[in-house]
Amino acid sequence: MSAPNTPATAQAALPPLETLVACPACDLLMSVPELTSETRCRCPRCHHLLYAPRKQIFAKVIALSLTVAILMVGAVFFPFLQISAGGISHASSIFDAALAFSDGLLLPLSVAVMALIVVLPMLRVTLLIYTLWPLSQGHRPWPQARRAMHFSEAIQPWSMAEIFVVGAVVALVKLAGLATVTLGPAFWAFGLLVVVVTVKDNLICDWTLWQALDTPR
Ligand SMILES: [Zn+2]
Repeated sequence: MSAPNTPATAQAALPPLETLVACPACDLLMSVPELTSETRCRCPRCHHLLYAPRKQIFAKVIALSLTVAILMVGAVFFPFLQISAGGISHASSIFDAALAFSDGLLLPLSVAVMALIVVLPMLRVTLLIYTLWPLSQGHRPWPQARRAMHFSEAIQPWSMAEIFVVGAVVALVKLAGLATVTLGPAFWAFGLLVVVVTVKDNLICDWTLWQALDTPR
């Protein structure tokens, strides 16, 4: 009679957990390959980038983070749109729009708009640059870099610049029937910013980053 395949025997057959890595995209469990500074490895099932040469990746992410910061300054202070109807025309920036709600009961709305679409995305890129800059130069991470990275990941769901752009486009479609709407430079800056943020977020591979924080050199 053969021995039953109990959970204990199945567990004993598994290699130690520290020798395994899971793909963050499709959860495929695989053995950790030997990592060198030039290793680039992708998931064999879904081809998600798991590990990449850290200097290259970090330099790209820092460049894209700086791009996001510059675009955000333009997106906040340049005119977002101009509305003309009945001979009257009015141009306003996102900063003006947020300040328009800064009196009385709507003040929390004004604060929330600025926090979710401007402050948190800017804070995220600042934390990323703080964490990645010394690593990209081959130095040890600056103090509290791990905490900064954890915080940057924690606030990611609250960083809503892209949701704002989708909302603004829907509102503009409705508004276009009532008045003449001209899109300002800030609208295009915001649109470009959303694309750059998406590329940046896809470029950061967690495994490379946390490995670099653990073993800086
Ligand atoms: Zn995968």
